[in-house]
Amino acid sequence: MSESDESEDAAVSTASASGENPPVRRLADWNAAALRDLEAGYGSPLYVLDLDRVRENHARLEAAFPDAEVMYAVKANALADVLEALLAAGAGLECASAGELERALAAAESVPPADGLDPDGSRVHYTAVNPPSADLEYAVETAAEYPGLTITAGAEDTIDRLAERGYDGRLCLRVNPGVGAGHHEKVETGATAKFGVPAERAVSVLADAAERGFDVVGVHAHVGSGVSADQLEAHREFVSRMGDLARDVVHEVGDLEFVDVGGGFGVPYDADEEPLDLEAVADATRTALGEVGARLTIEPGRYLVADAGVLLTRVNTVKAARDTLAVGTDAGMTTLLRPAMYDAAHPIRNLATDADDRETVPQTVAGPICESSDVFCENRPLPHSERGDVLAIGNAGAYGYEMANHYNSRPRPASVVAEGDEVRLSRVRETVADVTRPERTAREQNEREAGGNAQPRIERS
Ligand SMILES: *Cc1c(COP(=O)(O)O)cnc(C)c1O
Repeated sequence: MSESDESEDAAVSTASASGENPPVRRLADWNAAALRDLEAGYGSPLYVLDLDRVRENHARLEAAFPDAEVMYAVKANALADVLEALLAAGAGLECASAGELERALAAAESVPPADGLDPDGSRVHYTAVNPPSADLEYAVETAAEYPGLTITAGAEDTIDRLAERGYDGRLCLRVNPGVGAGHHEKVETGATAKFGVPAERAVSVLADAAERGFDVVGVHAHVGSGVSADQLEAHREFVSRMGDLARDVVHEVGDLEFVDVGGGFGVPYDADEEPLDLEAVADATRTALGEVGARLTIEPGRYLVADAGVLLTRVNTVKAARDTLAVGTDAGMTTLLRPAMYDAAHPIRNLATDADDRETVPQTVAGPICESSDVFCENRPLPHSERGDVLAIGNAGAYGYEMANHYNSRPRPASVVAEGDEVRLSRVRETVADVTRPERTAREQNEREAGGNAQPRIERS
């Protein structure tokens, strides 16, 4: 056993190695020494994603929802490693764009279905939200090659545009149920006009689509992110409306393959917040849905990847401000946008070997971006930071790298994935040359065209 003990020491988490599958991995459960080594080896800022934890999260969801189909919402973390691990575990993939669809189908090609058949797209859904024409064209072309692909439309317009392109394949309708849930107004989608067709129009829209030859396979809604224990009532209400709707559709239009109630399974961002009681949510979902004669589908994104990831960042500035200790880090809102965009309070841990011996003082941890919203926490009690410390920011596996951007001409960070006691680079660190490439390429193109009578070009999308 001593050999495996040694390798467990090197793993990024001590919790997983025990073979248990706790409902949440806290920032304290990560191995500080292993994370410090990663920062030393790969530099800062650095995203770390533990694939073993992604598999654990999937296994818990499957255990709670044994009869449901789990479609992972790719937008939470689109790394090929994540998509392949989840496909291999039996999940499907839900995509929000042509780019995600391309990634999902590539992953499906490299992880053949368990039944040994060729990938036919049946493990992939494309959910079109105000789809640009190029996205629809890609989806329709792709569906010709992968007839198992399901396209979810959220507007009659989208159905018309699919028909215009000759598509009459598998169609699901996204409805707007008129109830929302979510931890922040910006992630409530259930009552926002942008998403879905008002539920009361669903039957007529689907009847019409069926008449036009579409293969109507499902109804869908996603009411927002952050379904939590205290919102169980709202969840019940929403799912029961979906059950009623599905029965209406089956009665008026025809059989459905699935009823998709979306994602939104919450994870605790505060260290003292209780994890979601999955069994209770699963129970409430089953009861509220009732008998529909179709498979239940869920689309978790965050739940599968959030606590599997941390962001490592180095402290570069420590100064006494008026009411707080101001701590500057090399990661900022361009690296992890959620605190600036959603007021998300990610846990922060100082990985210094002597952190536990330091005085705890209120600190405001902020990044290098010239924006007052570029702040990870305000006046939070933490061990007194020192320049050179490495901080770990927890729950960074979902909507972390995916929302990273180039504002302030900041290159995006590197990322690594961990599996067992092995770690590999999953994205190289960008350079400023990566940030300036589109502009340099444009200049080169302009120069090539100068001399000829260069006309301004507007590419329609
Ligand atoms: C974002 C999204 C999800 C996943 O949401 P989470 O909160 O990450 O679980 C699922 N379905 C759709 C349609 C989405 O847009």
